[in-house]
Amino acid sequence: MKPIQSSLKSWMKTNENFKENYVKIKQEVLNDPEISEFLTLHPQLTQAEINKSLIKLYEYKTQVKQCDQCGSYRACKNMIPGYSPVLHVENDEIRLSYEKCHSRVMYEKDQEKQKLIQSLYMPKEILQASFSDIANDETRITAIAELLDFLDQAKTDLPRKGVYFYGQFGVGKTYLLGALANELKKFNISSTLIYMPEFVREIKGSFKDDSVNEKIDYFKKADVLMLDDIGAELQSAWFRDEILGSVLQYRMMERLPVFFTSNYDLDQLEVQLATTKSGVETVKAGRIIERIKQVSKEVKIEGHNRRL
Ligand code: ADP
Ligand code: MG
Repeated sequence: MKPIQSSLKSWMKTNENFKENYVKIKQEVLNDPEISEFLTLHPQLTQAEINKSLIKLYEYKTQVKQCDQCGSYRACKNMIPGYSPVLHVENDEIRLSYEKCHSRVMYEKDQEKQKLIQSLYMPKEILQASFSDIANDETRITAIAELLDFLDQAKTDLPRKGVYFYGQFGVGKTYLLGALANELKKFNISSTLIYMPEFVREIKGSFKDDSVNEKIDYFKKADVLMLDDIGAELQSAWFRDEILGSVLQYRMMERLPVFFTSNYDLDQLEVQLATTKSGVETVKAGRIIERIKQVSKEVKIEGHNRRL
């Protein structure tokens, strides 16, 4: 509020035609439909009080009321973005205060909802993926039907199985997860999306600050967990057995769904998981595949490479 008040004051001081301008501004302020209505509603206000409050009234006049000139909170033209001026009377004095406009309230609600998608290292376009963009895609009918089924059940109770999407690079697997997360958000279901190679790095990096267990817990307990690009991470037997294995084991027991994307089908993934720096361990890889099958359903995605 300071800038307008002080600039107006200094302008009044220095202007030679001060009186003329003062009268003109006063006229403008008092003729403002909202201000004149306000004054009519408060006949107890004295002329002296009105004169004394002219700067407040002027400030009120210059500010946008209830978003009538701005399309959104981000486009707000007011001095304090997202706040609208309100005039009221207290002890026969005019008071000017500011309250959150509805665009700001909507914006805050949206931010709150956005927190329902926890993502680590996912591109922005994926987080903005929308279901309406995928709904009419014929090459992915089975995949989309699975997601619609999941969403339908999720409205009442979270299904115990997610989907293991596999297919060629660039067919839109990750995009499907982003679109699903955005739909789930509408029912207040939170999703945790993570790009697998970063998951490994994240866990390894948290040894330094002892936060490994806390992080693993977070992945164990997320409403819907989405592991993007499984099979692309550099294989470590320790990560496979102690981290991935234990997260999947927990979710299997608790009947919490997991979604995956991969370039490999489950047989191929088994081969990938078996081969680590520690050698070839088919039994251990088989155990992970069994758990993946318990928490998800394998679905192939066809189509062309959308990145070309
Ligand atoms: P994948 O995970 O199978 O490798 P992505 O999901 O990353 O493929 O999709 C490849 C590219 O195509 C991305 O840039 C993505 O944003 C875009 N894309 C995928 N599906 C759609 C869609 N239905 N509408 C618009 N863009 C899409
Ligand atoms: Mg992908």
